[in-house]
Amino acid sequence: MADNSAISWCDTTMNFWIGCTKVSPACTNCYAAVDTFARRERSHGRELWGPNADRHRTSAALWKKPYQWNKTEFVECLDCGCRSSKLDKYCWECESENIIPVRQRVFVSSLSDICEIHPQITDDMRREIAKIVVDCKNLDFLFLTKRPENFNLLWLELFGGWKLPDNLWVGTTVENQKYAEERIPRLVNIPAKVRFLSCEPLLGHIGFNATQFLHDAFEQRFIHWVIAGGESGPKARPMDPQHVRSLRAQCKEAGIPFHFKQWGEYLYGVKVGKKNAGRLLDGVEHNEFPKTS
Ligand code: SF4
Repeated sequence: MADNSAISWCDTTMNFWIGCTKVSPACTNCYAAVDTFARRERSHGRELWGPNADRHRTSAALWKKPYQWNKTEFVECLDCGCRSSKLDKYCWECESENIIPVRQRVFVSSLSDICEIHPQITDDMRREIAKIVVDCKNLDFLFLTKRPENFNLLWLELFGGWKLPDNLWVGTTVENQKYAEERIPRLVNIPAKVRFLSCEPLLGHIGFNATQFLHDAFEQRFIHWVIAGGESGPKARPMDPQHVRSLRAQCKEAGIPFHFKQWGEYLYGVKVGKKNAGRLLDGVEHNEFPKTS
């Protein structure tokens, strides 16, 4: 767990803009659409969700933050796994001396979709963002999108046209079989060093042997990491334990790192609240990450 984000698979989040349009069942209870900022804007008559709504460009100060993070040393404790910029001889959590320098993982667009096409998200904005990614070589930027079909069109040229920088990981949300079959082929088409799936909220069974394409994509390791998790929030839908167990088993068989982020509001089908549900799956914390060297 990191000290800047409650999300187990990243160290911090970065939003270059806020606002989006819902595209698939994973978006039904989008937390960002009802988050404090979106609600406050709504109460002032400014809507940020929907194709004709505004997109809010975040502050100039925030756009400079990655440059600060890039200069900050970051460490991980090999004993308890905590990651932090609080440098010391000892881990601030478990007091172990077993700490190593690591790269910060920055989840980009937790309150928007980095691949949305919208008139207020301009090429100039994307050009600035691409420059930040290239300049901040000590950070790994994790672009997670529900629109992988737009990625190459919007971003590839900005990074030179054929290959992405090694510090740009690209992932797509896959909530059920339909979106696995639709989005994984589009993700595989993106020339990123690390490609990942976020199966959250996991809403149905996902079989990676259901089509020849998916089978080959996994067998040939064109997918490098799978994250899974349940939904949180007042309208959360339960996650079937068998669906997440199946994902874990398939990843194990294919040798793909598996990360279980959280149960969400329901633990093994019973509503107990996100905090109580935690993130143990059959008593085990699954904290794997892709190998990047
Ligand atoms: S793509 Fe993400 S930010 Fe956009 S509506 Fe869906 S869940 Fe919300």
